[in-house]
Amino acid sequence: MPPAPATSPAAPLDPDFYSSRIWRRVRRQVMDEHHWECQVCKARGRLSRATLVHHEIPAKDRPDLALAPYLPTGERQLTPLCHDCHEEIETRRGNRPGPTAPLTEEWW
Ligand SMILES: [Zn+2]
Repeated sequence: MPPAPATSPAAPLDPDFYSSRIWRRVRRQVMDEHHWECQVCKARGRLSRATLVHHEIPAKDRPDLALAPYLPTGERQLTPLCHDCHEEIETRRGNRPGPTAPLTEEWW
């Protein structure tokens, strides 16, 4: 009988994840690495202080990647963002109620 793995990738996200010591440490490392600058504003030629670290792949979807600054593909997983840019992303994802693009019923 094979031993059960110590940690499973399918394990749900710890409800205390965002207040955990390990997350706070990883978050700080990512912020320091990017000089506490919002990476979306930076790409737009603006300078804004980042207020949070955003998960490109939501932590609740992939708890096993919640602490990985980069994905196995080499793409960034943890990105410092300012409040406005984070709201913009979450709204675009449909995670926030708010102004949405007008629905076009007729596509043809
Ligand atoms: Zn920003």
